[in-house]
Amino acid sequence: MPRPLVAAIDIAALQSNLRIAKAHAPGAKTWAVVKANAYGHGLANGMRGFAAADGLSLIELDGAVRLREMGWQKPILLLEGFFEPADLRTVFDHQFETVVHCSEQIDMLEHARLPGSIDIYLKANSGMNRLGFKPESFRAAYERLAGIDAVRNISFVTHFANADDAGNAALPLIEQVRRFQLATTGLPGSRSVANSAANLMHPELADDWVRPGIMLYGGTPGAASAASFGLLPGMTLESRIIGMQDVPAGEAVGYGSRFVADRPMKIGVVACGYADGYPRHAPDGTPILVDGNRTRIVGRVSMDMITVDLTPLPSAHVGSVVTLWGGALPIDDVAQAAGTIGYELMCALAPRVPVIALAPPAAANSEGP
Ligand SMILES: *Cc1c(COP(=O)(O)O)cnc(C)c1O
Repeated sequence: MPRPLVAAIDIAALQSNLRIAKAHAPGAKTWAVVKANAYGHGLANGMRGFAAADGLSLIELDGAVRLREMGWQKPILLLEGFFEPADLRTVFDHQFETVVHCSEQIDMLEHARLPGSIDIYLKANSGMNRLGFKPESFRAAYERLAGIDAVRNISFVTHFANADDAGNAALPLIEQVRRFQLATTGLPGSRSVANSAANLMHPELADDWVRPGIMLYGGTPGAASAASFGLLPGMTLESRIIGMQDVPAGEAVGYGSRFVADRPMKIGVVACGYADGYPRHAPDGTPILVDGNRTRIVGRVSMDMITVDLTPLPSAHVGSVVTLWGGALPIDDVAQAAGTIGYELMCALAPRVPVIALAPPAAANSEGP
């Protein structure tokens, strides 16, 4: 009997979320973002869930190669591009499209001896100040790229810092849009700017290709709930109660005795801990479901176990099903209680947790007439 902790991936939910992303950007093509092992959902599951996307995009070169090996024939975009000259041969061989964000990458392309050419996304720094060329150096970078034999089509990309907070005082969204336009106006080539937040909240920014990530997995980038956009949880992290304790008033639970019972309590022990990716900093009160009923964690999260309050759930027993997140418990609720974001919880799912795919019903496989 394996430990009763699994991450169940709902392929039909991924498919449905992709349809919502597409519906928000009717004229655009979609790069479904599958970096970080499809945000913890498993690359193969991402590929299945997003089979209807126009392309898949990610950071990891080895993951991109795996997508080809698994049979993905449509475009693949490397969001950070390549890191050393040897990568370019892999990029060419698999016909990946690649971001170019710095002059060192252009140097590598100039010196590459490729048997043919590749498609490039030239990245503009529109205010995030992470990757990309500032508007004033963008055209020079474009001209250099346009003169390189190994470069075929050149498209344009930028990434928003605040699409979920358009009025941000330090960097309003319209300022980023303005800088991107300043960089690219008049240059021929397709454009991609929208992450999930822009896709959901500013569909007018869709441009030629959108790049949704978190929304495809049923998380949201902003304050509004995923459910309010019709998004379905892609991952349900599920375990069971493996032990129970009656704790008298005044007794404490777990390491550091952080939680002290103020009355006689029934405590359940869940097979899931920080070595599984559950956030260790989750405070007392973080929501959790036992047999579908919402209760709270009490006491410090330990490596392999979490302790939960079963006092209000007299029918809970060893073997009761526990939902850590997903299903009827939005991952964003857990993340918020733990002072983080759904992205981090998904991506931090530990390798020791089995990831199983729930096959979609046969009808959901076909796109219909
Ligand atoms: C991760 C990423 C995305 C997707 O962002 P979400 O907020 O998850 O939608 C889009 N573009 C780039 C360049 C990224 O790195």
